[in-house]
Amino acid sequence: METLTSYVLGEWRAGDGAATALFNPTTEETIGQVRSGGYDPARVLAFARETGGTALRAMTFGERAAALKALSKAIYSKRDELLDLSIRAAGTTRGDAKFDIDGATGTLAAYAAYGEALGSRRWLVDGDGVQLGRTPRFWGEHVLVPRLGAAFHVNAFNFPAWNMLEKAACALLAGTPVIEKPGTPTAMVAWRIAQIIAESGVLPKGAYQLVVGSASAFLDHLNSQDSIAFTGSSATAALLRGHANVVRNNVRVNLEADSLNAAVLGPDVEIGAESFGLFRSNVTLDMTQKTGQKCTAVRRILVPKDRIADVRDELAAILADTRVGDPALNETRMGPLASKQQLDDVRAGIARLEKECDVATGGSATAVGGAKAIQQKGYFVAPTLCVARDGRASVVHDHEVFGPVATIVPYSGDASEAASLVALGGGGLVASVYSDDPAWTQSLVVGIAPWSGRVWIGSEKLADQGTAPGTVLPASIHGGPGRAGGGEELGGLRGLEFYLQRTALQGYQGFVQSVFAPKA
Ligand code: NAP
Repeated sequence: METLTSYVLGEWRAGDGAATALFNPTTEETIGQVRSGGYDPARVLAFARETGGTALRAMTFGERAAALKALSKAIYSKRDELLDLSIRAAGTTRGDAKFDIDGATGTLAAYAAYGEALGSRRWLVDGDGVQLGRTPRFWGEHVLVPRLGAAFHVNAFNFPAWNMLEKAACALLAGTPVIEKPGTPTAMVAWRIAQIIAESGVLPKGAYQLVVGSASAFLDHLNSQDSIAFTGSSATAALLRGHANVVRNNVRVNLEADSLNAAVLGPDVEIGAESFGLFRSNVTLDMTQKTGQKCTAVRRILVPKDRIADVRDELAAILADTRVGDPALNETRMGPLASKQQLDDVRAGIARLEKECDVATGGSATAVGGAKAIQQKGYFVAPTLCVARDGRASVVHDHEVFGPVATIVPYSGDASEAASLVALGGGGLVASVYSDDPAWTQSLVVGIAPWSGRVWIGSEKLADQGTAPGTVLPASIHGGPGRAGGGEELGGLRGLEFYLQRTALQGYQGFVQSVFAPKA
């Protein structure tokens, strides 16, 4: 049985806290344990800022990009081992494991390419310069320079590889050292990746550290140049944002939290149309991929009232046919939830939905009912589709069930009504729209954009093209307003801004422009 250690101060340190057991979610066997602590968080932060940060800032964007590329290759070289580990330690199918591991190496490679294009630069120029005085001699530019702190990254259990490395890619390229804290239930995957990173020797000392188990003690030691990027529940997000030291020092905080993502089917889309096929395959994929443990998974499916029965039957047929079982088997389409806690939470969440909805397939009482493989052990739950009796049913718009669970919400077909229902979710990561009517689509998109970090627009022109709405791409921002945390990650070079200081420079144009913002 492995005991996970922390990689801090340039070495692996055993924890001294109480042990938390790690389980194989398929068999419920104990496969390891985590012990937190074993280090002084103030020293770990100082090591990051003074040793890692100094070395990273001495590098150009191009040099940091080369390091990200080498990291991507080092991790990719262990791909098969990591996929097997993900199946065992996180209960993912091989396809879901690839989604996490390849997503991680792909995002590192994407940021390597963004950085390569910046070459020997050491700061970014933000927008065009501007004349500030009577003549152009008094000139203004905005630059983005690396801050001098460390990034404390608190990650969720559902994407142990991608979540850690999409954050690290942006920070490291920006010149910021990282301290990564993985979600405990699947920390074994992040820990193995940390070993690969440490063994690769690609990053300067202190640029990357990993702390396993509870790490809230770091919050007391963060200073005004440090930052926190968090992914997880709104409840934990509120604790971090409201921490006294974080508030006192105005520590930068980026939060990626819960989201009741909506998919809206337009009134023009007939069953059997290409756009309907796209809707059906995306909704069922996003519900079952990673066993629904995806912050971007669809939770609310808005359907015109006169189509409810047909849409319900189409989706339920696919979901009921999903082969649930041992994720190591090729024929399995959906594995277990990642932990016993998750299983309890998802079952309780379905039971809450059942009070205001009718169950079309799955349900809280049928752990794997409707699925083909019946398991005696493991944290399994059946894909569950509910139909809200009332479109404004409160629990549907208020409670995120973090599993393979979604609810059909009836609406009239009117775009403004759909927008007001989407808004009941209080702000989300992604909303998807399916229609071949441009005027209707435009009106809905304008209505839901203020509530959405991303809007995915599906039509027959997109059939067989592109990725499903639940897939986060490094080129587009990830984050959302309100309940979703109000944060923003990725989005190409936008993802670096969180780690950089935007500074306005004012002075003689001949100096300010030629030195800090030279035209290529
Ligand atoms: P969680 O309980 O909030 O935990 C998230 C992370 O915070 C874990 O690393 C956890 O560590 C840590 N943590 C918990 N309490 C803490 C504290 N007091 N101080 C410092 N760190 C603390 O969330 P979860 O249940 O693991 O994740 C599921 C949730 O994440 C869902 O609600 C989902 O919507 C959300 N999520 C959002 C996104 C997004 O991008 N917006 C992506 C994925 C998931 P331990 O594991 O050691 O407790």
